[in-house]
Amino acid sequence: MGAHAEFSPSASSRWLACPGSIQLSKGLPDEPSAASYRGTVMHEIAAQAITLGMDKKFGSEKAVKLCTVCHKRVHDRPKEYGVGLEVDELGKTGQQVALDDVLDKVVPYVGWALDIAGDPEVEAVLVEQQLQVTSSCWGTGDFVAIYRDGDVLVGDFKSGEVEVLAKDNPQLMLYALGAITGQIAQCRDAVLVIFQNGTPDQWEVTSAELAAFRALVLDAIEEAETPSPALRVGDHCKYCPAKKSCEKYADRGMSLALQDLGGDDSLPALANLSLDTLDSETAAKVVDAIRFFGKWSAAAEKVLTDRMKAGFEIPGYKLIEGQKHKAWRDKDEAAAVLAKFPEAFNEPVLRTPTQLMKELPPGSVDDLWEQPRGEAKLVDSAARGKDWEDSSVFSD
Ligand code: SF4
Repeated sequence: MGAHAEFSPSASSRWLACPGSIQLSKGLPDEPSAASYRGTVMHEIAAQAITLGMDKKFGSEKAVKLCTVCHKRVHDRPKEYGVGLEVDELGKTGQQVALDDVLDKVVPYVGWALDIAGDPEVEAVLVEQQLQVTSSCWGTGDFVAIYRDGDVLVGDFKSGEVEVLAKDNPQLMLYALGAITGQIAQCRDAVLVIFQNGTPDQWEVTSAELAAFRALVLDAIEEAETPSPALRVGDHCKYCPAKKSCEKYADRGMSLALQDLGGDDSLPALANLSLDTLDSETAAKVVDAIRFFGKWSAAAEKVLTDRMKAGFEIPGYKLIEGQKHKAWRDKDEAAAVLAKFPEAFNEPVLRTPTQLMKELPPGSVDDLWEQPRGEAKLVDSAARGKDWEDSSVFSD
């Protein structure tokens, strides 16, 4: 069994809807995001804290705090990722996970899991256990409780902000199937729980419903393995690694964007309108469409560039060398030769508060810095960030 399942439960809402996405995304990296790093850190701490809490009978807060310190110690050294580490300090793979975020999100989840683990009706608890549905479909379940009467509870911790619900959740149903087919339990019914933002969202499913779902899963896997499996566009495309190269997605995306704007003919008409007269709904559609075209056009440019680098000619285009700033061939040598010209060197400049906070004695810069307000920035409503407030409301 490889490190990653071909049909992973976490991507199941995509491949169940679009079996063709499996072949199209083969070999493409699933680009990790800041949110996925944060999720990894929180899941690791949560799993360790549940195990520690069960073993030592610690409460959730104590267990999470201890595991956070331990996690930080282990991951600080190779500087991979971890709690309180700076993104810029660590470069590409380093991600910062705020301690408050860990405590706010992980402590309630661990508390909930420890309560269930302590229920006398629970016969066994599995934490971060591999749950297998078929040889190519398996994943790691965050928390599974097996009850004495044969019922199963499957819990999934979500650290992100985008709301996920338990009802009809294919990822949880696959974990439940994995718990059953692994003969871990002779399941009667299953309770599926998404734990997010401090609260559990729960949905109950019978073993008969799970069996019907399993048939759908097997059909999708069979279709995905045919020579030309169906490609179906939908909301599930959002996280598809193949969307840059998927013609179906590009066609549909373009026609939807145009439809939203009222058809092909509406573009020139819109371009002639004064932006001040656009109503907010139309302006939002224009922004959506332009963002779509922007991403799509960047991906298309890369395809053309790669083809031309490989020697293909594309009528109407050529490759030129991009401009770079002049750089010293050997910085030390240049400094030695130019030492006689004081004007060749910059005066020492004051470094940033963030840099100095790490290097000067604690408290040295505390009263000297401020956090200037950023300009208002338009993002998707699900994006992270501090809400912008109109400061003019409070002035004068
Ligand atoms: S972008 Fe959408 S349609 Fe294309 S392969 Fe991915 S999920 Fe399927």
